[in-house]
Amino acid sequence: MDVPPIDVATFRSDAASWLDANRQHAPRDYGAICPPDLIEPAVAWQRRLFAAGFAGIHWPIEHGGRGLTAAHQAAWIEECALAAVPPFLNMVGLVLAGQAIQKFGTSEQRFDHLRATLEADQVWCQLFSEPGAGSDLAALSTRAEHDGDRYIVNGQKVWCSGGRCSDWGILMARTDPEARKHEGISFFLCPMDLPGIEVRPLQQMTGESEFDEVFFTDVELPAANLLGPEHGGWGVGMAVLTNERGHIGASVIGLERRMEAMSRLGTERALDPLQRQRLAGLLSRGKSFTAMGQRQGPIASTAASLMKLGITEMMFDASMLRGDLAGADAMLAGADSAGILAAPGGRIAGGTSQVQRNIIGERLLGLPR
Ligand SMILES: Cc1cc2nc3c(=O)[nH]c(=O)nc-3n(C[C@H](O)[C@H](O)[C@H](O)COP(=O)(O)OP(=O)(O)OC[C@H]3O[C@@H](n4cnc5c(N)ncnc54)[C@H](O)[C@@H]3O)c2cc1C
Repeated sequence: MDVPPIDVATFRSDAASWLDANRQHAPRDYGAICPPDLIEPAVAWQRRLFAAGFAGIHWPIEHGGRGLTAAHQAAWIEECALAAVPPFLNMVGLVLAGQAIQKFGTSEQRFDHLRATLEADQVWCQLFSEPGAGSDLAALSTRAEHDGDRYIVNGQKVWCSGGRCSDWGILMARTDPEARKHEGISFFLCPMDLPGIEVRPLQQMTGESEFDEVFFTDVELPAANLLGPEHGGWGVGMAVLTNERGHIGASVIGLERRMEAMSRLGTERALDPLQRQRLAGLLSRGKSFTAMGQRQGPIASTAASLMKLGITEMMFDASMLRGDLAGADAMLAGADSAGILAAPGGRIAGGTSQVQRNIIGERLLGLPR
């Protein structure tokens, strides 16, 4: 069935009307990663989006998408930010796995996963980081040994957001230990219910438990679950992570709302001149990121590192200011302390601030490595 072409402005206005009528069915706007305790309402929300044609807006029609453009998708994300609802169930499935499968998948893999992901029949997690491999992901040591029509996987992953409520994981594992480190890695689509996979929740300093450790012991993964070329998983992973950075950078959409909340710090509490100056400095930074984001457009680029770094550092500083304003009360359980405890995670997820600075230095400024 051909979808009639629809311009971005008309699509945006349709989306806004639909959201107005349906936003009461959405879970709270949790951002890119669905916390485990919201998985049920988030799955129901994703199904509602699919039924209404607001899932996979720029994915191919044959796989359940709308076949529209990245600009339509960006408009959807903006309208969701304005309505304060999640634009999709989670980023790992609807952005990372989805894009990786579209770009590198066989026709069987596309058929098996794309529509099911849009319909929330497959919920995805990301199995990349390990205790000895985070920023330096190419140091990963989880092994996948090719053995006929399967791979035998052994190793450990960590910081896997929502692993315990996922059906599938995108997995990077070492298939050639003799090759140079970037060249011996492969990328897999891994069912989370295979025998030998053990998922253990981790507790964060916020008291919540959003991450899992995932242990692989002699897991038999069918060879058909390899995505892209064997030993060529680094290229697949990097295409996916570039996307992740771009998407985090696109969170400029919610920036204005955060700035409104920040401005209220100046009206809800009496600030001394120094505190007012700190707040004004943060708001000016926010304004400049908004302007930069508006220029950047929806496509991921190295400039996305500037957005990712700028916004997460600003939100960290805003949490610290809020804590300072609360004084000793910030040591009690409550919104002030919760912000302080949660803010460091933003500076780490999707590439740490230091790693973003390296990218900016080397690729944008042309500095030596
Ligand atoms: C909220 C959140 C969600 C996450 N979700 C997932 C997930 O679902 N799946 C998954 O696989 N992972 C996930 N992660 C893990 C995340 O990708 C890693 O934490 C991140 O890549 C950093 O790796 P690391 O924690 O091992 O720190 P390390 O890489 O060990 O870094 C330690 C410190 O050294 C610095 N550093 C490292 N290398 C350099 C360098 N070259 N130059 C300068 N400084 C450097 C870092 O900036 C950091 O300060 C998540 C993390 C967070 C916070």
